[in-house]
Amino acid sequence: MSDPFDFDLFVIGGGSGGVRAGRIAVSEHGAKVALAEESRMGGTCVIRGCVPKKLMIYAASHPAAAAEARGYGWPEAQVGRFDWPAFRGKLHAELDRLEEIYERGFLVAGGTLFKQRARIVDPHMVELADGRRVSARQILVATGGRPALPDIPGAEFGLISDDLFDLETLPRRVLVVGGGFIACEFATIFHGLGCETVMIHRGDKVLRGFDDEMRVRVGYQLEGIGIDLRLGVNATRLERRGEGVRVRFDDGRTEDFDAVMFATGRNPNTEGLGLEEAGVKLGRRGEVIVDRWSQTQIPSIYAVGDVTDRVNLTPVAIREGHAFADTVFGAQPRFLDHAVVASAVYTRPNELGTVGLTEEQAAERGPVEVYAAHFSGMRDKFAGSTSRVAMKLIVCQTTLRVLGVHIFAPEAGEMIQLAAIAIGMGATKADFDRTVAVHPTLAEEIVTLRHPERRHAGPQADTVAQAAQA
Ligand code: NDP
Repeated sequence: MSDPFDFDLFVIGGGSGGVRAGRIAVSEHGAKVALAEESRMGGTCVIRGCVPKKLMIYAASHPAAAAEARGYGWPEAQVGRFDWPAFRGKLHAELDRLEEIYERGFLVAGGTLFKQRARIVDPHMVELADGRRVSARQILVATGGRPALPDIPGAEFGLISDDLFDLETLPRRVLVVGGGFIACEFATIFHGLGCETVMIHRGDKVLRGFDDEMRVRVGYQLEGIGIDLRLGVNATRLERRGEGVRVRFDDGRTEDFDAVMFATGRNPNTEGLGLEEAGVKLGRRGEVIVDRWSQTQIPSIYAVGDVTDRVNLTPVAIREGHAFADTVFGAQPRFLDHAVVASAVYTRPNELGTVGLTEEQAAERGPVEVYAAHFSGMRDKFAGSTSRVAMKLIVCQTTLRVLGVHIFAPEAGEMIQLAAIAIGMGATKADFDRTVAVHPTLAEEIVTLRHPERRHAGPQADTVAQAAQA
């Protein structure tokens, strides 16, 4: 009997999650796979997110590297002028190369690519922008997210992170709005590239959701390197002023900037995809509701990555896509455990690396001990930098398991990746203690923390204590 479907799998979205799912389904499990991408293969991470952002962080790090070199006996070390057009050209050449790798990898594996928008018509049918209809046994939605602009007059005069990689010239004076990953990283980039940088955040600390102490440290560092960080402030109106933008703030001030960048979060990209019409349930923010197998309540439609608004990180989307392909096409059912996912915020000079529970989250669950170290790293101190490293282990007093690790240090992203293995394995404080230090490093502090800096008795004990005082 002939197959009633054109394809076994139709993937909508050629970003990290969609490409991984499609490639594994076709190359490892022999499925017949098609993928539609309306923009560029590689998606947010490769084309307008993690990759160009990290390269810009490297570019922005060089003035500080020159300052450090002067501290190490190179009195003439200077970076001189930053050639933005030259850097931007090289950046785009690199992104083109990566896009080509993504596209070729999928095609060589045996996938069929439609470089156009696709929309779901029914649980087994998609319609392409050119009007063609294609049927598939399974459909995977992997359309990611898109930046959300605040609902204020003139918001359209602001830039989003996607726009920055294409700027003709760098702004002399820039305003960054927001206090999340993107705001902290881009304020660091602008400042490092020589722009006068103002950052506003409506909250009292940047990086909501991270460990409170580390949030304060990141804020101090942003200020310390010369960013004008204003907390508890928001923008209420933007107006075009010649080539620049005039911003009115809710503290009554009005100021002019050459550019304003909104880093005020991202929304799942589900508009106009035909999902609800096909019976797929969406959440309050428009996210596709899925179970742990990434399956929607329409059995033939699945979704992975930022469009599901679970943990919005590239490696998570990749794992979800891979698990989906193995489960549905490889008869190897598995799903991703989102509980222990490490992440890093690439600020400078210190990055923030984090895995597991924050001190606040852990203290809400039970009795915990907090082991901490705060110090000037040898390398920074010698160079004359006042930057300070902070490391913290959150340990369950009952099981002695390490519930969370938070590192604020140069290359903390690299360190936390390795700490995440230990946390995922359920390592105890004794396992950390048994590990012999690598000396002299910053990371050795994490295995030499002897005494808890403080303890939290846990929520029940706190309630009893409060009741006793009342
Ligand atoms: P986040 O959700 O991390 O932060 C959004 C920020 O904008 C918050 O500080 C929020 O404030 C603020 N905000 C939201 N709405 C408004 C508003 N109307 N007016 C003023 N401020 C507002 O989003 P990002 O855009 O920084 O990042 C998007 C996603 O990208 C994240 O989920 C992250 O996972 C991912 N990402 C990861 C990176 C990494 O791994 N290094 C790097 C960059 C992005 P409040 O806290 O008060 O809500």
